[in-house]
Amino acid sequence: MRKRILVTGGAGFLGSHLCERLLNEGNEVICLDNYFTGNKQNIVHLLDNPYFELIRHDVTMPFFIEVDEIYNLACPASPIHYRYNGIKTVKTSVMGAINMLGLAKRIKAKILQASTSEVYGDPEIHPQTEDYWGNVNPIGQRACYDEGKRVAETLFMNYHWQNGVAIKIARIFNTYGPKMHPNDGRVVSNFIVQALQNKDITIYGDGTQTRSFQFVDDLIEGFIRLMHTDNSIIGPINLGNPEEFSMLELAEKTIQLTGSKSKLIFMPLPQDDPTQRKPDITLAKKVLNGWEPKVKLNEGLIKTIDYFKNIV
Ligand code: NAD
Ligand code: UDP
Repeated sequence: MRKRILVTGGAGFLGSHLCERLLNEGNEVICLDNYFTGNKQNIVHLLDNPYFELIRHDVTMPFFIEVDEIYNLACPASPIHYRYNGIKTVKTSVMGAINMLGLAKRIKAKILQASTSEVYGDPEIHPQTEDYWGNVNPIGQRACYDEGKRVAETLFMNYHWQNGVAIKIARIFNTYGPKMHPNDGRVVSNFIVQALQNKDITIYGDGTQTRSFQFVDDLIEGFIRLMHTDNSIIGPINLGNPEEFSMLELAEKTIQLTGSKSKLIFMPLPQDDPTQRKPDITLAKKVLNGWEPKVKLNEGLIKTIDYFKNIV
């Protein structure tokens, strides 16, 4: 049966992939975005589809619609963008969650929150399991994002306990792929754009910090499976690729795959930059019918490089 689905932040990197997938599966999709970091270009090819609707709206303001499911993705995700207006970032996470949960409660929709591995802060346990409470500096440069997302999780749990709202919380680890904004500022897009232009590759710190990179298609598959779980599964659930790389390794791979002449330059490490990050995905595998990432870093990087070649 055709479902009507709301995707907040639908014109962003992840949101646009999700809208496309949901439409391909025969659903009606309403994409809501204020275009802060998203881009109409990401979804322009969907506009001819009669089952796709685009609405310019800010999630910090209430919004009313009748839908069956809500994916709440609206929030800047790149450190540069979420720090640009930290107060707005907190409002987007917190008021956005309140508005969307209030809507879900009223219309009895299922709602999935795009949470983040940043709730673990600079983690002291490795890999990170969902029962780890995290190590976040509440007054640091990343706090507007990290704490905003933590409060959003708290709100999701309380709407579930108090009002019986059917919630799903996905803790997303670093995800990359086509449709990232070339000036997004996150490491994969930065390195690829720099390499394609034979510009210096900017390594923050000494480059030994690690991240685990997930290709976007794997995440979207995880999202859909999580939304389809029965009401006993609420999360939080880690969605990420457990293969871990240092930023130096990522830079070297990017140079090799692009055939670039770029050199590495070293720049100051931003405050509270996590030193290591890797998801434990045991829970996701168990409750999402054996879900696990399929796309290796090399393969995903090649697809992403091909995308950037056309736009840089
Ligand atoms: P993105 O910046 O490309 O997308 C975010 C979208 O939200 C943009 O289209 C932006 O315009 C929109 N938006 C921002 N503030 C808004 C507001 N107040 N009202 C309406 N729309 C608003 O980033 P992304 O990588 O696609 O991230 C999507 C979601 O996934 C975010 O919530 C992010 O925190 C979460 N997430 C992403 C990653 C990742 O690695 N990509 C990791 C962890 C969590
Ligand atoms: N990073 C880097 N050079 C860049 C951009 C980022 O070395 O041009 C580093 C950054 O310091 C961090 C890692 O890459 O250690 C991942 O950064 P990103 O902003 O992509 O995501 P997050 O820090 O939120 O995981």
